[in-house]
Amino acid sequence: MGDFYFPYLPSSPLLFPSSSHESDDSSNQNISTSSGSEASSGQNISTASSHASNGLINQNPSIPLGTVAIPSLEDIPTGFGAIPSLEVISLNKLSSNLEQLLIDCRRSCYYGDAEIVVEGRPIPIHRYILAVRSRFFDELFTQEKGSLEEGGKPRYFMSDLLPHGKVGYEAFLVFLSYLYTGKLKPSPLDVSTCVADVCAHDACRPAINFTVELLYASSIFQVPELVSLFQRRLANFVNRLMWMCNPICWVAFHCQLSQLVAKCMDRIARSDLDSISIEKDLPYQVSKDIKFLRKELMSDDEQKIEAVDPLHEMVIKRIHEALDLDDIERVKLLLTDSDVTLNDANALHYAAAHCSPKIVYEVLGLGLADVNLRNSQGYTGLHTAALRREPSVIVSLLATGACVLDLTLDGRSAVSICRRLTRPKDYHAITEKGQKLIKTGYA
Ligand SMILES: [Zn+2]
Repeated sequence: MGDFYFPYLPSSPLLFPSSSHESDDSSNQNISTSSGSEASSGQNISTASSHASNGLINQNPSIPLGTVAIPSLEDIPTGFGAIPSLEVISLNKLSSNLEQLLIDCRRSCYYGDAEIVVEGRPIPIHRYILAVRSRFFDELFTQEKGSLEEGGKPRYFMSDLLPHGKVGYEAFLVFLSYLYTGKLKPSPLDVSTCVADVCAHDACRPAINFTVELLYASSIFQVPELVSLFQRRLANFVNRLMWMCNPICWVAFHCQLSQLVAKCMDRIARSDLDSISIEKDLPYQVSKDIKFLRKELMSDDEQKIEAVDPLHEMVIKRIHEALDLDDIERVKLLLTDSDVTLNDANALHYAAAHCSPKIVYEVLGLGLADVNLRNSQGYTGLHTAALRREPSVIVSLLATGACVLDLTLDGRSAVSICRRLTRPKDYHAITEKGQKLIKTGYA
């Protein structure tokens, strides 16, 4: 039985947006979200499931590539109006065949001519496909031969390709799948949702982080239509967020998306996020601009109230520096030589958010800090530690009397904060590890 061949038809923009080589400057486009719909943008990107089938496509990896079921004559559309159907069918078939190169282990290993290692896991790739879809990879494969793996194929490490941030294994697979098929897969729930009991997963941290990674990959690897898409998604997030703008602001800055940076800065400047978190989380220039924006937004009266004793502020800054250096003796000295207290310096919040578990333990050991003190945002030290999700810091605070039932001003407990930040993948990994430890202990 011979294969059925469709006549050649030109690529459709529905499935294959224009090549990144031709329109690299289009990424920083207007990100107005007033239309409220990504589908209304100039770039038409199919987000159909990769498993979408029209009944003619070979879905079985064991059948050789290019083999399709032969339709009966009645099934084949004819006449003037049939051309769009044939085009869609033909391109779906091409997309599905190319996807097999990625998801079928036998084919990806046999035909793959290089590897990219992401989070320690090698992903076989086909350099020609990546090179024609991305100028970044075209230049990379021309200039860098990569380190050779055992089979003699070049191997590239994701950590070497990214100058600032990270792109995880799952995010890169979604991105790679788009390069191969022209279709954008839905984000895997295991890494793009949280484990909170009640959450729409439309603006929780895992959902944001996954989109941030996809935007970063699209920008670094120069696929402008995806940059536009993910930029609009993140702009929609910003409308609903305050403190979680930081990762969006960070990626927008490094991807040089000026409109998104400005939107984030305005949002953060109007929020009650403390200046230390802004300085720690964001690039220097951005934190400086936010500081300036905040002053502009303040009335004269508010600026007078904001004015503080410079000596008092200097001691607080030195206490924070000593905490950064794990130097508890210096902290003690600063407390002795001034009238500044650990509570004035929000030392416990600072240590719980930014410092080593050891120094948190030592600060608590001084017995001079109120363990349930609230900062300007209404967070206790335990809320701050929950945001960081460092188990040993949380345990130290609980052991010293931190109240687990205290709520933030918007009604969240430390447990609910943790759940909104934790991905199912990490939750299951930690649970599994805990169960193994318990079994080992009993053994
Ligand atoms: Zn969620």
